[in-house]
Amino acid sequence: MKSKYLYLHTIGCQMNVYDSEQISMRLATLGYEQTSSMAQADVIIVNTCTVRAKAEQKAFSLLGRLARMKRSQKRLIIGVGGCVAQQEGEQILKRMPAVDLVFGTQAIDRLPRLIQQIETRRCRIVDVDMDAAPAIPESLVGSQNESQVSKFVTIMRGCDNYCTYCVVPRVRGRETSRKPESIIAEIRALVETGVREITLLGQNVNSYGKNQRLCTFPELLSMINGIEGLLRIRFTTSHPKDLGSDLIRSFGNLDKLCPHIHLPVQSGSNRVLKRMNRKYTTEQYLDKVAKLRDTCPQIAITSDIIVGFPGESQADFEQTLELVKTVEFDGLFAFQYSDRPQAPAVKLPDKLSEPTIRKRLQILLELQEKFTRRKNQLLVGSTQLVFTDGLSKKQVSAQPTEIGPDVQWTGRTSTNKIVNFYLDELAADCENLTGKLVCVHIDKGFSHSLFGRAINVEPSAGGLKGVENYAA
Ligand code: SAH
Ligand code: SF4
Repeated sequence: MKSKYLYLHTIGCQMNVYDSEQISMRLATLGYEQTSSMAQADVIIVNTCTVRAKAEQKAFSLLGRLARMKRSQKRLIIGVGGCVAQQEGEQILKRMPAVDLVFGTQAIDRLPRLIQQIETRRCRIVDVDMDAAPAIPESLVGSQNESQVSKFVTIMRGCDNYCTYCVVPRVRGRETSRKPESIIAEIRALVETGVREITLLGQNVNSYGKNQRLCTFPELLSMINGIEGLLRIRFTTSHPKDLGSDLIRSFGNLDKLCPHIHLPVQSGSNRVLKRMNRKYTTEQYLDKVAKLRDTCPQIAITSDIIVGFPGESQADFEQTLELVKTVEFDGLFAFQYSDRPQAPAVKLPDKLSEPTIRKRLQILLELQEKFTRRKNQLLVGSTQLVFTDGLSKKQVSAQPTEIGPDVQWTGRTSTNKIVNFYLDELAADCENLTGKLVCVHIDKGFSHSLFGRAINVEPSAGGLKGVENYAA
């Protein structure tokens, strides 16, 4: 039988990256092998994001290119999945005659059947049903290739929070948690294939299990902490209003839980937070930050901020700058407010002009950069325990080299800082470090990464003396 090829293009968040893997595994059951060449593909799927207008434009411009490609490749099947598919549904088929399939965020488990129908009947299909059971299909675990030592695991889908700027609850549906048994089984299976680090995904992990009376998120973490062979646990995202003292305590109790929390604050002005429907004040946010640092002094805190929310005054913006100075985040994602037609904020008055928003964004980014750089420079001279993801970006873009002392690797500290490093000659024979824990002596700190030399590979407890952030 002739091989069939799938080309997958993923836009957006980690949830989409996870969904794309599930798409790939489901189409493998029909004999589709994933390819990195668009020209070779029999099926091309674009997994889309609509959280900001730019991401949506990206999807449509790619679809335009694919439509031109299809003129000379009539049998090519083009599918659109993810949040834009969920939001636009049928409209995409109308707007883009080259598209064969539009499937929503809850249709991934039905994908093999949909593709089969198109293969045999060359029909065009829209499946954006959000009520068809099950809301969370069982996840599949594939055989991992060598470089996959760190994986995402979705523990819940959807969101019940309705922040006024956000389209996620509309395109991802109501909040639904997976059963703990199923999550644990998936992680165990991943660990068996060589995975040593997992990142649990959900729009608001703190409310995991609550509306279905499953266990709590800290209880789930504690069960996962007991999985043998697993080294590091991460999670994202936490909503500040639901961050309770039990989760804060987990950072003190669970040895595999990495000391890093992504805690999006969105604004430093209580007036704006109220209009965003975030349901906490800056005082409450700062109180939680203090408690996290009390419990786990080395914890890294990162955040998201939206600049230019409708009605944001200069004074509101200055309060955001004040909050950033007070907290000193380890990293920050700052976004220009983007009007989303399906989000309630689209109807709010007093929209800010694009140049004002851009200027504020720049001021905020410049302020944060100072903190990120300073925090990274403070680590120069220290030794950090780094989990190696693989070859560094620089190394991958260079010509492939034999593994040797000239090869540059990349990994992350438990606090989620990127470290690029070489293996010190004295450390060990040169070997493939992917998936290995290494002690790295930090020589340089930049604004987005650290640089150093690995001095010890897979240190035993005794070899960890003097290593900072050793919580694996
Ligand atoms: N559930 C997560 C992530 C949601 S989307 C959370 O609550 O944190 C990721 C980030 O995108 C948000 O934190 C927010 O900062 C940003 N975002 C969402 N909608 C946006 C919009 N309309 N314009 C600009 N940024 C937005
Ligand atoms: Fe969107 Fe708010 Fe839900 Fe996050 S918590 S996904 S920002 S509605």
